[in-house]
Amino acid sequence: MTDWRRGIVLDRDGTLIDFVRDPELGSVVSAFHPDQLRIYPGVPEGLRALQDAGFALAIATNQPGPAKGQIPESAVHRTNAALVDMLAAEGVRIEAVEVCLHHPGGGPGGDPALALACTCRKPGPGMLLALVAKLGLDPAQSWMIGDAAVDIGAARAAGLRAGLVFERGRCEMCPLRHGPDPLLPDAVAGNLADLARVILQS
Ligand SMILES: [Mg+2]
Ligand SMILES: [Zn+2]
Repeated sequence: MTDWRRGIVLDRDGTLIDFVRDPELGSVVSAFHPDQLRIYPGVPEGLRALQDAGFALAIATNQPGPAKGQIPESAVHRTNAALVDMLAAEGVRIEAVEVCLHHPGGGPGGDPALALACTCRKPGPGMLLALVAKLGLDPAQSWMIGDAAVDIGAARAAGLRAGLVFERGRCEMCPLRHGPDPLLPDAVAGNLADLARVILQS
């Protein structure tokens, strides 16, 4: 028991990296190529602070694009690997990456083997529980950090604490700031550097 570690499980899109926005088309999609990776300000600084305090770092990301026929599975893995490398260049060590490639509805041209209701897609706990086992984490001393209600739901389902990076203008998240709500996070901040400070003081 005593050699269990504290860990931080990080959402990817909207938490570590920005979405890919096309102003002309008005479209917003998740990054699917290394050239599209835009790490948010404060992310390397915040992750280094958590790492220096002894937290193991990992990523858990829903990527239904291959199930929906939008992008190949290889693009997801290549983009994730490039993100891990970019963070490593900033002195941040990501120890594991868990990806849910599933989607309950699938989509035209999608891989039918990925079109299913799984237990890993957040807010399900599957990816977090896998990381707890793989990295030897103590769930009660570990955090899931994300930008959406599904991240908080996954944290609750897996018994981790929940941290929210709140992007201004995301009305989806407004109810979470103004609870009462079972999905109220344990810590909130406007960027990851500030959230790391809140977590380290808690
Ligand atoms: Mg997100
Ligand atoms: Zn899944």
